[in-house]
Amino acid sequence: MIKNWGDHSGRCLVEQEGISVIECERCRFKHIIPLPEEAEKREFYEQTFYSEYSEDYIAKHARDADWWLIEHNEKYDKYEALLGHQAPYRLLDIGSGPGYFLKAGNDRGWLTRGIEPGEAAWRYSTSHLGLDVAHDYFTAANFSTFGTFDVVHMNNVLEHIVDVTATIEQIGHITREGGLIAITVPNDFNPLQTIAAETTGKGPWWVVPEQHINYFNLQSLQSLLRRSGFEPVYHTTSFPLEMFLLMGDDYIGDNTLGRAFHQRRKRFEMVLDRHGKNELKRAVYDAFSALGIGRQVTVLGRKNA
Ligand SMILES: [Zn+2]
Repeated sequence: MIKNWGDHSGRCLVEQEGISVIECERCRFKHIIPLPEEAEKREFYEQTFYSEYSEDYIAKHARDADWWLIEHNEKYDKYEALLGHQAPYRLLDIGSGPGYFLKAGNDRGWLTRGIEPGEAAWRYSTSHLGLDVAHDYFTAANFSTFGTFDVVHMNNVLEHIVDVTATIEQIGHITREGGLIAITVPNDFNPLQTIAAETTGKGPWWVVPEQHINYFNLQSLQSLLRRSGFEPVYHTTSFPLEMFLLMGDDYIGDNTLGRAFHQRRKRFEMVLDRHGKNELKRAVYDAFSALGIGRQVTVLGRKNA
């Protein structure tokens, strides 16, 4: 069934309590309708998301620091390979959270800045880690004040943003020619998820309209970047956690099981790392991403001249 809201129109994929997820023909990615007002969205984040989730998120992040460092270093390795030898490189992280990604960059000689609206995460990254992080949102009013960068990074941010196209265009203005945009988002409505939604009887559990407005996959993310002046030059994914669901272990809504499977994924990746097989892991995940599989999708786009 086709649904529309203003100029946004497309096939309706999910309907929950008056909110629909559509395959929007105008935006060319999936998003909810009606779209919330920016102010309404911020009120939600300030009153619930940042205060309730942030402390726990920081603690979890600190516990998994060794594992995160592998991923962070892989990202910087990739950027350096694509940028060539022009160090020191400059990076902006929009939604920098507790700051470990910025710290990994600083430790390799990168010049980094962050923007983080969440009070607890911002405080941790500045006071505890001593990083250069603005306590703010990235907006039409302030985007040009941060400087220009070789890489602009956004991890799990784009799915929360109301005006995605404007944000990517603003990033285009502060990325130097030949520089990179680096985006990671949940890989939603992926083949393993949609099978698991049926086999577990839980339906599309990844649709969380209060938090996630937009639902991307490799193709829609690549297309978004192309339309905003970036040529996609690399894609990859993270471990396809939904494989556990298809093996019969239903961790959805079960935090204890969820943590157990997160530990298994971590052990799998860390044992490969200890045995010098990170390249093998990367090759497997890169191949998964081309097949549309994997929990999150990452695309790097190079800014056109
Ligand atoms: Zn739309």
